[in-house]
Amino acid sequence: MEPPIQPEGPVVVPAPSEKAVRYHRSGNVIWAVEHLVGLVLPAAILFSGLSARLRTIAAGVAHGRFYPTLVLTLALLTLVMFVVQLPLAFYVGYRREHAYGLSSQRLGKWIADELKGLIVGVLLGAAVLWVPYLLLRASPERWWIWTGALALPFFALVLLVTPVFIAPLFNKFGPMRDKSLEAEVLAVAAQAGVEGARVFEVEKSVDTKKVNAYVTGVGKTKRIVLWDTLLGRLTPRQTRFVVGHELGHYVLGHVWLNIVVSSALTVAALWAVHATADAALARFGARFGFDRLADPASMPLLMLLLSLFATAISPAMLALSRHHERAADRFGLDLSGDNHAAATAFVALQEQNLAVPRPGRLYKFFRASHPPIGERVDFINAYRSRARVAGE
Ligand SMILES: [Zn+2]
Repeated sequence: MEPPIQPEGPVVVPAPSEKAVRYHRSGNVIWAVEHLVGLVLPAAILFSGLSARLRTIAAGVAHGRFYPTLVLTLALLTLVMFVVQLPLAFYVGYRREHAYGLSSQRLGKWIADELKGLIVGVLLGAAVLWVPYLLLRASPERWWIWTGALALPFFALVLLVTPVFIAPLFNKFGPMRDKSLEAEVLAVAAQAGVEGARVFEVEKSVDTKKVNAYVTGVGKTKRIVLWDTLLGRLTPRQTRFVVGHELGHYVLGHVWLNIVVSSALTVAALWAVHATADAALARFGARFGFDRLADPASMPLLMLLLSLFATAISPAMLALSRHHERAADRFGLDLSGDNHAAATAFVALQEQNLAVPRPGRLYKFFRASHPPIGERVDFINAYRSRARVAGE
């Protein structure tokens, strides 16, 4: 069903459909369950002594050698967690999305993506986890500083590698089919001062009906990426605003700022682990089946402590993200001066993604990485962009 065309001027935020409200409410329950599982599962693996048993098996196979024991322990732990979480992952990522008409994904694709994610996760862990574990052995008192210092180059590398090598493992990245729209997108980029970017159209329609876009990369990997679902759903005017918004994140340096903030928080989180792990080991070490953080069996303990830290700071991280989203909206409006296209794009997004435009305060505080759509449209309706002011 196409939404009614809204006349030029302030845009009205429609009330959410009954289906969107159900999706929102059940989504809150799922969020709580997933958070709980994220804490309870590593705790269970730890307190049952399973982690230590898996490490003993790994050490046996690896004849006690450091690196193979570490990687094998990681692989076994990842597999156990994957299998335990599979029913929930299947319900949330597949069954539920289909039930709400948000997915067109075939079961085979879902399974293939899950397996790819599992393999990528283990390979990434195998590539980096030896660093903190070696540092834990070499410098038990200062490991968290050294590990934290490596977080910044590591996050930067992940940011550069993911769009080029990881994302294409899951979806086809092709050139944009609509060449005139591609030219318009590049014109918006030039207006924002972003030159030499390639435009990609991702075949996301095989996975979802939700819509998205982003700008990332540096130098030769600089790219503007649009999901085909977005191109099918938004008008060229609305697409131009969305591209302007994404360029805003890029030009205003939000991604790099996030990396700096994440690195600083990683140092803080590792310090928190360092400060609490000894007490946990002294008290529960006998049940855990290991007594040093440098033991690879400590992975679930690290995971548990880091999850607790992440949960504690997530409202602040979400607030920062919402702040960036508002700045990117302003940037997009200043670029286009097209408030009407911007506001109607959000209304289309609300309907396509089954969003609730004015969720409660608790939702916003604990879950919203973006300002609620109602607030974004209110802001756009009231905003006099630079382009507009100059045109008058
Ligand atoms: Zn954004």
